[in-house]
Amino acid sequence: MSGDGKRGFVWLVGAGPGDPGLITVAGSARIAEADVLVYDRLANPRLLAGAPPETERIYVGKTLDHHTLTQDEINALLVERGRAGQTVVRLKGGDPFVFGRGGEEAEALRRAGVAFAVVPGVTSAIAAAAYAGIPVTQRGLASSFAVITGHEDPTKEETSIDWAKIAGGADTLVFLMGIGNLELIARQLIAHGRRDSTPAAVVASGTLPGQRVVTGTLADIAQRAAEADIQPPAVTIVGEVARLREELRWFDNRPLFGKRVLVTRAREQASALSARLEAEGAAVVEMPTIAIRGIAEPETARAAIATLADGEYAWAIFTSANAVDILLRRVAEAGRDARVFACRIGAIGPETAAALAAHGLRADIVPAPERSVAEGLLEALAGEDLTRKRVLLPRAAVARDALPEGLRRRGAAVDVLELYRIESPAADPAVLEALAAGEIDIVTFASSSTVRNLAGMLGGTLAPLRGRLIASIGPITSEAVREYGLGVDVEAGEHTIAGLVSALREHFSASPSSHRQVSPR
Ligand code: SAH
Repeated sequence: MSGDGKRGFVWLVGAGPGDPGLITVAGSARIAEADVLVYDRLANPRLLAGAPPETERIYVGKTLDHHTLTQDEINALLVERGRAGQTVVRLKGGDPFVFGRGGEEAEALRRAGVAFAVVPGVTSAIAAAAYAGIPVTQRGLASSFAVITGHEDPTKEETSIDWAKIAGGADTLVFLMGIGNLELIARQLIAHGRRDSTPAAVVASGTLPGQRVVTGTLADIAQRAAEADIQPPAVTIVGEVARLREELRWFDNRPLFGKRVLVTRAREQASALSARLEAEGAAVVEMPTIAIRGIAEPETARAAIATLADGEYAWAIFTSANAVDILLRRVAEAGRDARVFACRIGAIGPETAAALAAHGLRADIVPAPERSVAEGLLEALAGEDLTRKRVLLPRAAVARDALPEGLRRRGAAVDVLELYRIESPAADPAVLEALAAGEIDIVTFASSSTVRNLAGMLGGTLAPLRGRLIASIGPITSEAVREYGLGVDVEAGEHTIAGLVSALREHFSASPSSHRQVSPR
């Protein structure tokens, strides 16, 4: 026990097989409360982000043949931190008690009198198979499965694997850590009674965007895995169920599977796009090219809000979700609420309308999704008499003049309220390197500012993007891309994030000959 009397505690937490969504609710709650996080190579780095910033993170990663820390050292570390009164989360890939040496850690803690508990995890033995479309049991095909180490402890004098028992012990056999020994494993299973035509599958980096699967039979699986240069971590599934992948494959055949996609939106906005892309199977790399900074003087904003509340404006027209969110924040800061909108409301498109709806405001006018531009908004307002009507236009500092000019031509008195500025954050050198090395497959642009700012980061050119697939949210953004001499491969029909993602999905679902080329390079 520590001096301040706080009792230490060690949680042995299963991190799941790789996909960060596969940690348990209990596991992620423990991470959020950790003083110390002790993790290794198989724990997804994204899970570490769930710990408070002040949490100490200790990497004790292991590779097959060299340990950053020996198991004894890890045990000693857990004991020491527990004794010091800290809340320790020992995060382990998959399930802590399935070949995770979690049992040894628990024994060490018990011996030292340090309190501990176990949060089980989703083991790769089952999850990697599932993500390959292989159920480990299946009525009529397999009524039992066994999980077996394929990597004998090299310090052991003699093998503890009884091949005769293993080969016939269960219908489905799942080998962990067996990539280096695949040939030996297959030979032993055949020698002990498994037909050489038994289906087998190797799943590497299962549940992750880089998942790779090789299928075959006991006769050829080792050779096929070697030819495909399969690298650990991988599980090998042997048994009739391995055949089911042919019909049950669902994860690694999604349209964007394995594609590395660059998201250039502002940090605050990136996650919605990233999540949608990931749902289609993409491996997302985020590098914000814009940052949104509120700029309106408190006095200016306050005055506009008062005028709005007084019913002086006939219309408030929003051309971005940012403008909605920032103005409503100002409204709240002024001690008011959505009732200040004593006017009709226009939104340039569905996302802006959705941002309004999130604040309980329904847009009176929204152009059709494929007309989510200033001109579309003006068309949608065609039936309205705007003569001598006051219109409030809350928006970004540097924006197109098409809308205010169009409204003024119709006789309106337009007040532009500049709420925010789009700035250029520093580029992430790792992402620039990946771009230069051709490691990014798809670059997405959700606004023309992202195009210009990425070009700025690349030294005033988009040349390093040549050969990458370019996806744009709409015509204005595409035009900005073309100004840099680059073509646009995919343009969203509906100028929204959902539209951008569905255009990409269609592009990659279509047969190569029917790919829609917006402007050939
Ligand atoms: N406790 C872990 C297993 C640790 S042993 C669990 O329950 O999953 C490490 C072995 O797990 C690796 O050699 C590999 O066989 C398997 N493994 C872990 N993560 C994997 C993944 N994402 N895909 C395939 N195999 C994985």
